[in-house]
Amino acid sequence: MAEKPLPLEREIGRLISVAGPMSVADYMRLCLTHPQYGYYMTRDPLGVQGDFITAPEISQMFGELIGLWMAAVWRQLGGPGNIHIIELGPGRGTLMLDALRAAKVVEGFSAAIGVHLVEISPALQQLQKQRLAALQVPIDWYDALSEVPGGPCIIIANEFIDALPIHQAVKRPGGWHERIIEIAANGDLVFGLEYDPLPQFEATVPRGLRDGPDASIFEWRSDSIALEIGRRVREDGAALILDYGHAKSAVGDTLQAVVGHAYGDPLRTPGQVDITAHVDFEALAHLGEIIGARVHGPILQRDFLLHLGIDKRAAALKARATPEQAQEIDLALSRLTTTGPRGMGELFKALAIADAKLGDLPGFGAP
Ligand code: SAH
Repeated sequence: MAEKPLPLEREIGRLISVAGPMSVADYMRLCLTHPQYGYYMTRDPLGVQGDFITAPEISQMFGELIGLWMAAVWRQLGGPGNIHIIELGPGRGTLMLDALRAAKVVEGFSAAIGVHLVEISPALQQLQKQRLAALQVPIDWYDALSEVPGGPCIIIANEFIDALPIHQAVKRPGGWHERIIEIAANGDLVFGLEYDPLPQFEATVPRGLRDGPDASIFEWRSDSIALEIGRRVREDGAALILDYGHAKSAVGDTLQAVVGHAYGDPLRTPGQVDITAHVDFEALAHLGEIIGARVHGPILQRDFLLHLGIDKRAAALKARATPEQAQEIDLALSRLTTTGPRGMGELFKALAIADAKLGDLPGFGAP
């Protein structure tokens, strides 16, 4: 262990010595959202100065297209006089700022909305308050989606689900064992396995993955957030989930730590690094369906943005831009839409869960 353990490292060590090894999910939850030392609780992790960058921070076009998407969906809902615009994990508030500015062109929309931001981090809530004050719409903050009042709603979650805790199970000849975090003899945090296999676990692993090789890792998240989203949107609502992950459930270890735009070790310096894992979009889609909503996608985020006309939006912005700005717009467009290591094209997906009576949703049909 480092000479002088960080406060959260000490706290995790204490919890393990009192209660025994902890699940990857409990570890991830503490690292990200421990009230005092959690990664998100104390800082603004986003942007060039921070640890990672997200699509709304890359370009205003991203939020603008989502704003127009929301306004179009509001119309499909019959243009109700009151609609909750709910964003989960709004970060620096950039998406909402760009979205609501762009959606002003849709008559009646701005007057109908109340904005509800679900944000666990006091530091980021503060930043959102400052940045969104200019919008002149009613805005309320909550720690959890369950606290947001009911009613017709549009829910947006960009790079939110990846930050929710995952469990991991490892396949062994006698069954699937939960992966845990324990303390090694030298005091370091290390991965281990629960001694007993998870009871009846095979049945929850998708059929095609059960026969995988020994040491396969299967990851899952609590169903509660997806069910809560589905329950809210299945009548008079729609949710748009954008994130990185796999369209089909798969085995593999996707737990990752990022600090200063580089990969780190998830078990070192807890609370100082961002820890996330890929989103299993097939699992989300399945939950949306069982709760009685209609599921759209998942499709590649790049295709969603192209269907919504991101290239036309880029051309319109470039027509009014300086040559330097035009170059930046081209760069942003390419990061958002190209495949390959520097692009978000292959890994990022878009999924919508909505009231079935809305029919097809913008962005999810053919181009
Ligand atoms: N959507 C933003 C930020 C993504 S980072 C963007 O695209 O730029 C993840 C966001 O979710 C942060 O705002 C973080 O503080 C918030 N968050 C993480 N875990 C959360 C939880 N359990 N409940 C509520 N908000 C959470």
